Amino acid sequence: VTGTSSAETTPVALSGDALPCADCGQAVALPDPTMAVTVKRVRNGRVTPVPMTKCEACVERDRTAVDLAKRHLRLGVVVNGYQYAGTDATHLLIEARAALDAGGIEPWPVETTASPAAVLTAEIAHLSGATERLRWRDRLNPAPSVVAEPIRLVEPGTANPSRWAHLDEEDRAGWRDGAVRVLAERVALLTPPVALSPPAIQEVGSDHEGVAAAGCLYCGVGSITITALTVARIGDVDAAARSVWAPRQVTPAAIGARRGGIARLRGWLCPACERAAATVGSASSATALESALSTFLGVSGCTLAGDDLWVTGLQGWGALVAEALRRGRPEPSPNETPWSHLAPAELRELARDWRRGGL
Ligand SMILES: [Zn+2]
Ligand SMILES: [Zn+2]
Repeated sequence: VTGTSSAETTPVALSGDALPCADCGQAVALPDPTMAVTVKRVRNGRVTPVPMTKCEACVERDRTAVDLAKRHLRLGVVVNGYQYAGTDATHLLIEARAALDAGGIEPWPVETTASPAAVLTAEIAHLSGATERLRWRDRLNPAPSVVAEPIRLVEPGTANPSRWAHLDEEDRAGWRDGAVRVLAERVALLTPPVALSPPAIQEVGSDHEGVAAAGCLYCGVGSITITALTVARIGDVDAAARSVWAPRQVTPAAIGARRGGIARLRGWLCPACERAAATVGSASSATALESALSTFLGVSGCTLAGDDLWVTGLQGWGALVAEALRRGRPEPSPNETPWSHLAPAELRELARDWRRGGL
């Protein structure tokens, strides 16, 4: 609602022992002395202490935030790539909960969710920013910066006619947007992980070129599973698949196909195999293929002298596709687990040989 009438937002004069709540600004008729808050008012270089208190609702909200942080954020929290220690995490959650309160939004249940730490992290990520002028006590002095937005200041001896009445609709709209994003993350957290198949590839209908669209050109894995939360942050399933799978084209012979078929195979590499190809500098490379497999097997693919090992007859899954295309046979199915087109005995033997020759 915009254009709230001034009667609903005009501060009221205090009488008797009443003090304003330093957070929400409402009048507290009989302040609890243990909750005393003194805020300094500065005018023309003169500092006057202004007594305030904390209302029961605000005390309870902060207590809940501290309690939740103590139980679920002891290890701190990572927001936008920054790690905040336990005490800083507590402070951020207090801010997030104050923003929710000011926005008139009931906090959602936390303890009943599968991952309380994750939902609290979402609250901190989307709500703890922009709270520096949130509270009644933050409005006693003008903003120190001349470029800051002008705000309506509050006067000593006054209180809000109702909780948070010093905030305008624009302030609240920002926190409501944050709350919508928190809610989207909560929904994503409850959604099972998503298996992302490689995106479709347009066939060109050339005799020289083939397409291997169902799995990773090297390890053959047919899907990469990521959390629904990651999909929500990226946008949608298609965009998520494109961010996970790397488009690559290879010479089939370079990944173990017999010569004589198509000259080029277009397809995708999974993140692990793409790392190997990127390190070598080419996907069309037996070295990259071997490196991807040896990394998967947890062994080094290099000898002590640093020479690459050459595994005779090693085939990437894409090689099987190239051979199927050459013979006019149906494309092989992708693998459920990486490299499962190779026999377990073969993988064991390779791991042993690499260990012997490797580091
Ligand atoms: Zn209050
Ligand atoms: Zn792969």
